Order: sequence, then structure tokens, then C-alpha cells
Amino acid sequence: MSIINDSQKIQILSDLVSINSVNGNEKEVAIYLSNLFKKYGIESKLIEVIPGRSNLIASIGHGKPVLGYAVHLDVVDIVDKSKWNSDPFTLTVKQGKLYGRGSVDMKSGVAAMAISLIELNANNCIQNGTLEFLATIGEEVGEPGSQYFYENGYMDNVDALVIGELSGYQVVHAHKGSMDMRLTSIGKTAHSSMPELGYNAIDPLIDLISNANRTFRSYNKSDAILGSFTFNTTIFNSGTQVNSIPENAIAEINARTIPEFDNLMVEDNMNTLIAKVNSMGANIKLDTYMSLKSINVTPSSSLAKLAQKVGKKYTGNNIPTSSIAPVTDASNLLRGKTDNFPFIAFGPGNETVHQINEYVEKEMYFNFIDIYQDIAKEYLS
Ligand SMILES: [Zn+2]
Repeated sequence: MSIINDSQKIQILSDLVSINSVNGNEKEVAIYLSNLFKKYGIESKLIEVIPGRSNLIASIGHGKPVLGYAVHLDVVDIVDKSKWNSDPFTLTVKQGKLYGRGSVDMKSGVAAMAISLIELNANNCIQNGTLEFLATIGEEVGEPGSQYFYENGYMDNVDALVIGELSGYQVVHAHKGSMDMRLTSIGKTAHSSMPELGYNAIDPLIDLISNANRTFRSYNKSDAILGSFTFNTTIFNSGTQVNSIPENAIAEINARTIPEFDNLMVEDNMNTLIAKVNSMGANIKLDTYMSLKSINVTPSSSLAKLAQKVGKKYTGNNIPTSSIAPVTDASNLLRGKTDNFPFIAFGPGNETVHQINEYVEKEMYFNFIDIYQDIAKEYLS
């Protein structure tokens, strides 16, 4: 028996979208979910990770096995509100599509997993084990929420994990890693008519970046499932005045890693290249401020197969297994787990993720509410 009807399903997603949780403002979403769970008799707990920013956990059933349903509470920025056809924080229904920031990434996944928990609990469907709802802060920037869950043992007893991220009707078992690095070059300022009295911070940094591009791109490493390793300078800042030798230069780099060329190898190579320019008089430091590893677990776990079976029931089509390019909280949540760990990312979504006029298909959102119920019912039966 369904206790949350279709208009309530839309209302819950609408409420979530209306809470602006552009990175840093997740607490209100956590409180909303906590109240929603409470209304239907489910206890939950807010866990402050960073002052003013809270993860949330809730669970139903008891004992082993433990199936985790993980979501993140933040959304990416709207970029330019004037380019949206409707207010990004007002869920707008048009021809079967639900528009709004986070409709795909990932408030529809949050709502679908939360509603599935409520329905499963109300109908007493979890017979054997525990379904645990894990909601994180900051997935879009640095992933501090999932790091907290890992470091504080919240994943220790989790036996299988579904992240409700935007895969659409495919079961994702792999994604690349990601690294954010900052290079700071320190020079000495001088009047540009007398450069010999200073040290130009830009020059060695440019040399370093072009050496790094050559080095990293020449490896040409690629993975059969994940594709190629990539390395790109994305920010470069220096100088204050055209007739002054710059004292500082800062570059930021994002690398997308694969097992064949992983985060440690990137750091080792960077350090070698930096030592070389520093030995010639430069003063460049590396700060790797985010390092998330790639994920590539087996696509044939019982969980993945179950998701394929349930997905087919609702769509009539075969559900493929696949990889996605962006990182997810799995990079943290699966730390210490083996390649056989049953993990999938499976959730409502499409290519409008992070874009202007982001939308989710209403039918897909509704389907995933049922899909999550079926998966938990069968996995914990
Ligand atoms: Zn996401």
C-alpha cells in the first residue's frame, strides 16, 4: 500500500529544490528530510561535519546485512539565473519534465531514496537486515561529507551500497578519480625596466606546466572501462601591474585518474618535475587539496544484477552496466573495500546535469521510487 501519493512525491521534490543548497548550505535540506522521516515514524540524526553543515543518517530494519542508500545534499551553482526559462529554485512541471536546480543532481535521487525508505518502513517490508540512508554534504566540492562517513566508521558495517546519482537507466559500477592541485610560484618583485633585480614568478611556472603537459600527455594511459587519464590546467593567476615583475603566480590543475595512472603516480611525477625547476632557481610548491581515487568494482555483483532485473521490470528494456566520467561519494565511501564490493550508482538523471534548465523526467523519478523499494525488498529478504 502506497502512503505517499503522486502529488506528494512531486511536492517533496519541489520542497527540496526550493531549498537553495548550492555548496555550503545543506543543513536546511538535512533538517527537511529529518522532519519528513519523523512525520512517518523514522528516526534520523544530523551530524555536523563542518560548522553549520550536516550529514544525515537514518535507518530501518535491523541487523545484517546492511544495504546503504547514499545521496548528497548540495547542488552546483546556477551560473546565470537570467538564462533559465523558469526560476531554478521553483520546481516547474512542463510536459512531463520537472525543471529546477538539482532536479537531476541529485534532489530527485534524494527524494526517491527518502520516499522509498518511508514506504518500506510503513509497509514493514525489510525482513532481513538494515537499510541505511546516508546523506552527505559537499559532494560537488571536495566531498567532506563522505570523507567524514568513511573516517568515522559509518561505512564499516555496510555490506552493499547504492548511490542514487543520475545514471539514468544504466547501472554504473565505475568512474574516474579526480585530483585538484594548486601550484604556487614565489618570485621577487622589481620594476620591469630592471628585471635583473627581481625574479619573475610566472616564467618557471609556465615552464613547469608545459613540461607537465608534455609528460602527462605523452604517457597516453587509458583504461578499458574508464577511458583516458586527463590532465588540465584550469586556473592561472599572476601579476598586478604591467610594469612590475610578478612576485607570485598560482596555477590550478585538475587531473582525472584511472588505476593505470593513479593519484599517487600523478603526485610523484609532479614532485619530480617541480624538483627540476626548483633546482634551477624557482620556488614552486605543490598543494594537492583534493584527491579522490577512481572506482571500478565488479559489474556482476548480485546487487548490480538485481538492479538490472528491477530496472528492466519498470522500463521494459535491458539495463546495461557502464561507467561515468564524474566522481561520486563512492571515492570516499568505498575506501578500504575490495573490487568485489557490491556497489552501484543508479538514479534518475540525464545529460542536463549541472546545466541551465536542468530537468528530470517525471516518469523516471517515479520509477526510481519504486525501483529503490524493489531493490531493498529483495536484497534484504
Ligand atoms: Zn551528484
